[in-house]
Amino acid sequence: MNPVLEIKSIFYNYGPIQALKEVSFHVNKGEIVTMLGANGAGKTTLLKTISGLKKPSQGQILFNNNDISAWPPEKIVQKRLIHVPEHRQVFSTLTVTDNLYLGAFHHYKKSGKKEINDLIEKVFVLFPILKERKDQLAGTLSGGQQQMLAIARALMAKPDLLLLDEPSLGLAPLIVKEVLLYVKNLRDEFGITVLLIEQNVNASLKIADRGYVMSQGSIVKEGTSAELLNDVEVREAFLGQTVN
Ligand code: ATP
Repeated sequence: MNPVLEIKSIFYNYGPIQALKEVSFHVNKGEIVTMLGANGAGKTTLLKTISGLKKPSQGQILFNNNDISAWPPEKIVQKRLIHVPEHRQVFSTLTVTDNLYLGAFHHYKKSGKKEINDLIEKVFVLFPILKERKDQLAGTLSGGQQQMLAIARALMAKPDLLLLDEPSLGLAPLIVKEVLLYVKNLRDEFGITVLLIEQNVNASLKIADRGYVMSQGSIVKEGTSAELLNDVEVREAFLGQTVN
């Protein structure tokens, strides 16, 4: 086992609301791990604590064996832990290409223009539609294309670990499958480790190796994707299947 990310008993409160209670789990190098849970279970808060946007009140977050719990987000990004938040958040008044350049912001000086341009070409191979639309303003792309741009921009940061918060939110079912297949490609072809939150539980368990289930701020279940897909509670709670 070679954990890239190890979460050790973290807590987070919004005033009186306990959003994370003694959460512990890990993600191994090269894995896709999905975090399942009903609305309000604490999934988004969990990703925000990992990327440094929120500080846990207790517990430790280890990324490649460094305790990053108290680090500012910009230092965490420099270590190549990259968070793609909900609702895409591309820079809508900038072109596709400029959005990609901004993704490389933290290593732009170190890498130099040639390496950045090579990286853009690699990203265009993965997402040909973005190459076709490279001069288009990001705000005028379709929802699915904007999601691809959000993931592509994260790739420009050369991630070691990618945190994806609901990449399929608001997308049509066919596009959801396409976006999740891209996520699988990132792991298969680029070796990027992924922690994925996804409302589409069936589709996310199909691409993930393992998963955890959160409820009311705690992890209540874990297993391989196959185990979770066959789990009666998971099927009833998330897949809309009644199991007798
Ligand atoms: P969803 O799937 O609906 O996005 P989630 O599992 O991502 O839900 P969180 O958004 O992490 O859940 O919310 C966890 C809990 O913390 C919820 O009870 C939510 O109401 C509460 N919460 C989240 N953000 C805040 C905030 N800024 N202030 C107060 N409470 C908050």
